[in-house]
Amino acid sequence: MSKLKKKKYYIKTFGCYANEVDSDVIAGFLEDIGFKELKALNFKNEIEEITYVLKNADLFIVNSCSVRQKSEDKVYGLGRIISNYKKEKEEGKRACVFLTGCVVGSALGERKRYSLEELKKKTRNYDYLFTSNDLKSFIRGLKEFNLINGVEIDGHEVSNMKRRKRGNEHAFVNVSYGCDNFCSYCVVPYSRGGEVSRTKEDILREIECLIKNGVKEVTLCGQNVNSWGLSKNEKTKIRAGSRKKLPFTSLLKEVCSIKELNKVDFISSNPFDFTRDLVTALKEPKISNYIHIAVQSGNNEILKAMNRRYSAEEFIRLTEEIRKVRPGIEIGTDLIVGFPGETERQFMDTVKLVKKVGFAVAFISMYSPRKGTYAQMNLKDDVSTKEKKWRHMYLTEVWKKTKEGKKEKKKGLHEKRK
Ligand code: SF4
Repeated sequence: MSKLKKKKYYIKTFGCYANEVDSDVIAGFLEDIGFKELKALNFKNEIEEITYVLKNADLFIVNSCSVRQKSEDKVYGLGRIISNYKKEKEEGKRACVFLTGCVVGSALGERKRYSLEELKKKTRNYDYLFTSNDLKSFIRGLKEFNLINGVEIDGHEVSNMKRRKRGNEHAFVNVSYGCDNFCSYCVVPYSRGGEVSRTKEDILREIECLIKNGVKEVTLCGQNVNSWGLSKNEKTKIRAGSRKKLPFTSLLKEVCSIKELNKVDFISSNPFDFTRDLVTALKEPKISNYIHIAVQSGNNEILKAMNRRYSAEEFIRLTEEIRKVRPGIEIGTDLIVGFPGETERQFMDTVKLVKKVGFAVAFISMYSPRKGTYAQMNLKDDVSTKEKKWRHMYLTEVWKKTKEGKKEKKKGLHEKRK
């Protein structure tokens, strides 16, 4: 493969670990074909960062997140900053700006939430759009903007590509991509497409390669790691606490048995298919002492409306079993307040669950409708913003107090509302 003159790239990543991994893969590919990373400076703010990058890089990639409206708005906001550099663009003195990630996946992927025309209108200041797992389209973009003319780039496959070396001892390793769960509020099955498990050989090869680069801790990642290696039919039938032996449990054990690794972690685990054999596997000392399992709500009617396939009771039982197997383990979760139709009584069920389980970490968010999801299309967003804010504040305080082991005072938080 012939090497390029060192062109500079810069990637700005929004969102979760999945985007971080994708950015590392894109960066690894670019470095493999001769690009060099433009190092970030100590920028005072985003405008300073973008200005510096537009002037000094050849290629600027924005890897977007669409989990909330705010995250999408960020992409459009960056577009407005980029639009200030029209003259530089015409003079060839501005970096080419490529947009990828979940915002693009929502328009270009197999399950669209909005049309490409609609997205293009909102992102007209970006030069090129591509989905993060579509290497061919990325390469087409590089050619179109004369960033890789005449370079031999055949033979690169996303699943086997080198990753950017971060120089630290920890690495995220994707075991699967996409999601088929269709929780009614969530954009991921659209923005990242259907769930595809990587082969065990691919995963182990990647870990081996990371170990050679000094990695000693890995986090196995997927939108629902528990269902790794299961067929669509199998995964929707499993319930929390089932005795079904999961392929993921055996993968996890195999990764733990790699002697060069000191610590193994996995995200995201959902309660749907957290089977008994996975609970038992937590005895393995290399597995992290923190586990994140999103509960979202403590009320069964709301869980049903969210299309989460477990009850609050099943979730509580699961956490109890986990603590029996691994006393002292910290449990984290995600919670949504103000889901369509959530009454005060239903919200208080969530409060009760938070008090009962005692989470070490809780990411609490206010429901916001995401275009194209079942909830946005079929359920009325009828909890007022004021009420959502209040529930968010209240639940956060309850969680913090349970975390600190404090009891709610007699005149409880509830009084604060008046
Ligand atoms: S499991 Fe549910 S919340 Fe998680 S990515 Fe899939 S659809 Fe979204």
